[in-house]
Amino acid sequence: MTKWKPTPSFVKHKREVFKNEINISSFIYKIGESKKLRLPSKEIPVTKITSSETKEKINYLKKCLLNYRKLTGYGRGVTAVQVGIPERFSVIYKGQTITNIKNKKDVTDKNIQVIINPKITKKSKHLLNYPESCMSASPVIVPTIRPSWIEFDYYDEEGNLKHWDTKDETDVGKMMNRVFMHEFDHMEGIVNVDIVKDPSKIILWSDPDFYKNAEFTKV
Ligand SMILES: [Zn+2]
Repeated sequence: MTKWKPTPSFVKHKREVFKNEINISSFIYKIGESKKLRLPSKEIPVTKITSSETKEKINYLKKCLLNYRKLTGYGRGVTAVQVGIPERFSVIYKGQTITNIKNKKDVTDKNIQVIINPKITKKSKHLLNYPESCMSASPVIVPTIRPSWIEFDYYDEEGNLKHWDTKDETDVGKMMNRVFMHEFDHMEGIVNVDIVKDPSKIILWSDPDFYKNAEFTKV
């Protein structure tokens, strides 16, 4: 008779994922530990965008994103409120597609875009579902439905008014549009776990190959 043995799966990867959580805990606010994450953030007055105080805060947020990428090997964007600054700005890593999830070597700020006071001006009627992960709720993965693209006005870190209207034709386009929407939700106090349509589809990131097979699906 063979002896019964428990057989948990993905043990090595689960350990790695939770080790990452320990490493980022010193600078990323998680849901439940700060009320700010569920409150709208304040606009930065345009005249203050280039002030030394704002510059310092932006640099800190950039540092947090690069540090996150260095520690975990992933991370596409972070919004100020996630590091305890309830002001409307995000930093986004642009050098990442769906397939190069692990691009650990790129931890320079040349691929970082700063978005300040964004205002969505148009939304696609087409909806896409994608399994998102959020620094403030990881290692939970949340299938999240969003428009396939948006257009928006924003300020860059030099205080110039800009417009984003790159659509969703490519995977990179789809991903960038999605990251912007995810980050702008943070500015409203919304985390992706708050807008999930089917909570039974929420999972933990246990399977190391999960994101290799992840794709955008039409809703
Ligand atoms: Zn997030």
